[in-house]
Amino acid sequence: MKKNNNIETQVIHAGYNPLEHSGSLTPPLFQTSTFSFPTAEEGESRFAGESEGHIYSRFGNPTIAILEERMAALENGAAALAFTSGMAAVSATLFHLTKSNDHILCSDGIYGCTFGLLQLLKQKYEIDHDLINMDDEETLRKAIRAETAVIYVETPINPTMKLVDLEMIVKVAKEHGIRVVVDNTFCSPYLQQPLTLGCDYVVHSATKYIGGHGDVIAGIVVGADKEEMAEMAASVRKDIGGIISPFDAWLLIRGLKTLAVRLDRHCDNAKKIAETLKAHPKVGKMFYPGDEEFPQYQLAQKQMRRSGGMISFEVKGTKEEAQAILNRVQLIKLAVSLGDTETLIQHPASMTHAGISKDEREKMGISDTLIRLSVGLEAWEDIWADLKQALDGIK
Ligand SMILES: *Cc1c(COP(=O)(O)O)cnc(C)c1O
Repeated sequence: MKKNNNIETQVIHAGYNPLEHSGSLTPPLFQTSTFSFPTAEEGESRFAGESEGHIYSRFGNPTIAILEERMAALENGAAALAFTSGMAAVSATLFHLTKSNDHILCSDGIYGCTFGLLQLLKQKYEIDHDLINMDDEETLRKAIRAETAVIYVETPINPTMKLVDLEMIVKVAKEHGIRVVVDNTFCSPYLQQPLTLGCDYVVHSATKYIGGHGDVIAGIVVGADKEEMAEMAASVRKDIGGIISPFDAWLLIRGLKTLAVRLDRHCDNAKKIAETLKAHPKVGKMFYPGDEEFPQYQLAQKQMRRSGGMISFEVKGTKEEAQAILNRVQLIKLAVSLGDTETLIQHPASMTHAGISKDEREKMGISDTLIRLSVGLEAWEDIWADLKQALDGIK
């Protein structure tokens, strides 16, 4: 297949040719733990890495390989590895890139469990980290140490939608030979391609937009360098063992086929909801990269194809009133996670970010009245009607 097809085509075709699989239009599910060798010599050569065949599904599997090839194409990378969760992907990447006494520099606002992992790396393996505001180049340059091995970035940052300028990060990182890892979960490759901008690794919670249907926990790493990815497969993935299951890989291949159409609808719906929401008297500050008054609107326009399906907003009132909205919605489901077909609502201060002290939360811009919305694929009018009745219902 032509390598440079548009992404709308790649999500459906990249990495798979039916004629290599008995004509099966849909990629087959190789639900097997192990693979039989035709001869002892062939078994020897597979273990020696001299022939391509499969050995055992913790090392790799044909269904998983299709997913990985497709994801590598979508992210414009050299190779991809699929994991059993987003956190398995994040942890394998950080174990792969760091050793004792190294230092990791992070955007100030990262996924809660990634934060937990950084604490663990520090306590058990003496791998230090700093969380810094990556708004300006000067602050970034000052925070870099001789030991800095990785710059780890989320953009947009959950739940405040703050963006980090990836081109600026790459420029500085390259001067120091530091690897840049981007958690691209909020965007998916349809909205943002960090490797194209020069970053070294992309990690995903494929649980979210990649799967898209709320029925899988999975993760993906895509790298710009083929040899480094092969090393990662043979070490941190094989020996720590967090590989995805063949069935979950199969579900992700299926989910990916509609990534572009789903994301367009998520983005359309979010834009409509954000415009209407902003005018509601009970709504205070809104955090949505597609809002022209959003402080980083220009950066969002430059770096992202569209503004995404996530909106956060503050309720004018108290924490109890914010919680009352969550209790009043009916169509919208009260749940964490994001990127599903269903619209989901949650309260970061008491849910996803409850593990962070109130002081730290406030510094990150997460107030007690902040609500996060993952806009789903329903008719936007229905989502809005539900949200409006919930907002109208509080005093
Ligand atoms: C959900 C999420 C993760 C963790 O992924 P799991 O699949 O739940 O392990 C990491 N980063 C971000 C931004 C997420 O939203």
